[in-house]
Amino acid sequence: MKVLLSAEKIQERITEMAAAIARDYPDRPVTFVGVLTGCLMFLADLIRHLDIRCRIGLIQASSYRGEATTAGPLRIDPALLPDVRGKHVILLDDILDTGNTLAQIVALLKGLEVASIRTAVLLRKKDRQIVPLEPDYLGFDIPDAFVVGYGLDYNDEYRHLPYIGVLEE
Ligand code: 5GP
Ligand code: MG
Repeated sequence: MKVLLSAEKIQERITEMAAAIARDYPDRPVTFVGVLTGCLMFLADLIRHLDIRCRIGLIQASSYRGEATTAGPLRIDPALLPDVRGKHVILLDDILDTGNTLAQIVALLKGLEVASIRTAVLLRKKDRQIVPLEPDYLGFDIPDAFVVGYGLDYNDEYRHLPYIGVLEE
């Protein structure tokens, strides 16, 4: 495993992202909607830095199957999503790749009549976006490699790693 982003570097950046969010939402309660399963670490670490009123919701999306490292059909399951009508939502995901996942969930949330919607992603693979989507809060731009750790999996493993790495064959 080649370490791309150390645990320290990730935590430092998340502290900065939390400060930016706190500045932007001084008086509006935020509903964070995390995209399962990859968002878990990012969501948990980010919100612990925030001293603002907030709620947490979750939505499930998956486009990878088993041992594949290329995306298959996208499935979105809103069964765990709380009532977001009239709420100020920040949608959180681990990584922005083609942009399909976030674009579709943003559209879904807008259809539920949220008061406002922004997006926060820890990682972005630059030049990979098919659906143009500029995240409002971004952790790191990374090269186009398949990464694991800090919530990101390969075949449902490696999510627990505190750092982000590139799997070697
Ligand atoms: P998009 O819909 O933007 O193409 O892809 C977003 C989703 O694909 C992410 O939520 C993530 O689950 C998955 N994904 C994209 N790139 C990677 C990667 O390098 N590693 C892992 N583990 N998942 C990825
Ligand atoms: Mg994901």
